[in-house]
Amino acid sequence: MNPLPLEVEVIESAPFAENCYVLSGFQGSDCVVIDPGTEPEKILQFLQSQGLQPLAVLNTHGHADHIAGNALLKQRWPQAVLMIGRLDEPKLQDPVANLSAGFGFQVVSPPADRVLEDGDVLRFGPLELEVFYTPGHSQGHVVFLCRQTEPWVVFGGDVLFAGGVGRVDFPDSDPQALWHSIREVMFRWPDSTRVFPGHGPPTTIGQEKRTNPFVGQGALGDF
Ligand SMILES: [Zn+2]
Repeated sequence: MNPLPLEVEVIESAPFAENCYVLSGFQGSDCVVIDPGTEPEKILQFLQSQGLQPLAVLNTHGHADHIAGNALLKQRWPQAVLMIGRLDEPKLQDPVANLSAGFGFQVVSPPADRVLEDGDVLRFGPLELEVFYTPGHSQGHVVFLCRQTEPWVVFGGDVLFAGGVGRVDFPDSDPQALWHSIREVMFRWPDSTRVFPGHGPPTTIGQEKRTNPFVGQGALGDF
């Protein structure tokens, strides 16, 4: 089977340098938006300039810097299906839980149209994204894996970064769980798998296995 054509555009939002990803090229003008951040006008502008129509807005987790653009996208494209992991769904409309209140602004997202469970497979025409539950940074964190490209790609939110891992100092963080999510879930995928994280540059599973100081070969035991 030929690999699925998939274009990935990254749109970074200040001030948290958060990465929003726009997936397109798999079917006509359809696209999927992952983690629209605090500068959604930039995303809107990109979608409009490319003539793209979002079928869905996916959130890896409910922190403000990853959900702040949900409202504008849903306002412009109400039919786009808003999805987030079940345990992070309450953060969408709670500025304290989504951490925006702590930064002095109030992010309230529209409610989810669908809550995601571990093992769900999301189908957008020919594109399939598999949902993996990856708690640790946030209790209801999920990542989205596509096995149809060569190499595979994962949209990883704040779990595994190039040379780093997600923060575990929030009220619902769990360092053990983050370790498990990375070592027992993500590190089981092929080394060639490309990781598009919520912050910073892309990396690969193999690169992080070899060199990540927190979870790679040199890291022993717990955080
Ligand atoms: Zn986060």
